[in-house]
Amino acid sequence: MGKHIIEEASRCLQCKKPLCSKGCPISTPLNKVIALLLDGKMLEAGAMLFENNPLSVVCSMICPHENFCEGHCILGKKSSPVQTSDIENYISRYYLDQYKPEAEDNGNADKKIAVIGSGPAGITVAFILALNGYSVTLFESEERIGGVLQYGIPEFRLPKDLLEKLRKMLLQLNVKIRPNMMIGPVISLDDLLRDDYKAIFIGTGVWNPRPLRLTGETLGHVHYAINYLKNPDSYDVGKRVAVIGAGNVAMDVARTALRKGAQEVIVLYRRGKENMTATKYEYDYAKLDGVQFEFFRSPVRIVDEGVICQETRLETDDEGNSRMVTVEDSEKLYEADSVFIAVSQAPRSNLTGIEIGKTGLVITDELGRTNRENIFASGDVVTGAKTVVEAVSQSKKSAQAIMDYVSSLD
Ligand SMILES: Cc1cc2nc3c(=O)[nH]c(=O)nc-3n(C[C@H](O)[C@H](O)[C@H](O)COP(=O)(O)OP(=O)(O)OC[C@H]3O[C@@H](n4cnc5c(N)ncnc54)[C@H](O)[C@@H]3O)c2cc1C
Repeated sequence: MGKHIIEEASRCLQCKKPLCSKGCPISTPLNKVIALLLDGKMLEAGAMLFENNPLSVVCSMICPHENFCEGHCILGKKSSPVQTSDIENYISRYYLDQYKPEAEDNGNADKKIAVIGSGPAGITVAFILALNGYSVTLFESEERIGGVLQYGIPEFRLPKDLLEKLRKMLLQLNVKIRPNMMIGPVISLDDLLRDDYKAIFIGTGVWNPRPLRLTGETLGHVHYAINYLKNPDSYDVGKRVAVIGAGNVAMDVARTALRKGAQEVIVLYRRGKENMTATKYEYDYAKLDGVQFEFFRSPVRIVDEGVICQETRLETDDEGNSRMVTVEDSEKLYEADSVFIAVSQAPRSNLTGIEIGKTGLVITDELGRTNRENIFASGDVVTGAKTVVEAVSQSKKSAQAIMDYVSSLD
């Protein structure tokens, strides 16, 4: 590993205008980090990564690098791009084991901030505020912190011990964590303000599966992907599994089901391979694991024996507009012991008192400010399902907006 990392780092051209950073949603200064690494300054490199992105170690493992840093590396035009994800991973892991975070002693300790949700958005805000000396309380509806990192992305893609390390670092910074505490049903946003929290940050993500509203959707062998991934061991999925949808969540369900004993997993998608929202990387791995794919198959109804689909095809009219149409008399049963629905998620609707859009997403400005001056939000609950790095990037802005707001009260 060490040799590979040095070899890869040495390939970096140290571009004056690095395209890798430009292609990264959080502008990771990879060329500077690589220069520090090659100069033997690993801790400095780690500090630079952590300061820019407290979830650098996570992003190094699960970012769609082909779309971001590595996809933009100039070397990729003629040969393979520098494997920046491996370099970032090596440095960040090392740094996480060494780093002892310390909160600034700057008179902010009596300023309480409530952070709701401990996914990438909430963790980012908690770190930034705690490092800046604020008194942070993190409310999480689940038992453990991490959000999708803990309860969505499977262990084989992201080892959960990393989240435990992050939890310990937050505790070291005196962040108070209240697990199993869903804000909304019992304690409201206004209850928090009553208790003198100067500001509230909402990073509650998107946890309601979107239903297909198909006949058969309530049958006993039908499950929503996001619910299954929370704890696959509590499901008995049988030998044959059908997955409806073709995003990264669908790939995670398909690959997890195979690892948990399913013998045949088929992904059914109503459009073509090129329209899949899963990254090529995720698709390639799913194929490698043995997942089968049927494209241009639209589910019509779910029955005890499996899913009935109709064929679809793309039709282009005289003006060049194309639309999906179903092919007549093409219904076919795809036999399955379990059927998973993986066609995106929406926010839960349990936070009231702030402006919410039609689709349930919280409305904010570009800094994450809601219609109430002391309530802020970012991550998936604002943007809809996106990526970890985008949630972190937005949440950095929200953390700054919170600090600016709280300072303005002095
Ligand atoms: C299965 C799956 C795989 C994915 N794979 C990738 C990937 O490989 N790479 C990538 O970059 N992105 C991936 N994503 C997307 C990425 O994980 C999300 O964009 C990111 O987690 C969003 O972070 P967040 O903090 O906004 O929300 P979340 O991670 O959803 O965290 C929200 C947290 O808030 C808690 N919460 C919710 N409501 C309340 C409440 N009322 N009170 C208290 N707590 C509450 C939740 O329990 C959760 O812990 C994936 C998503 C899924 C579902």
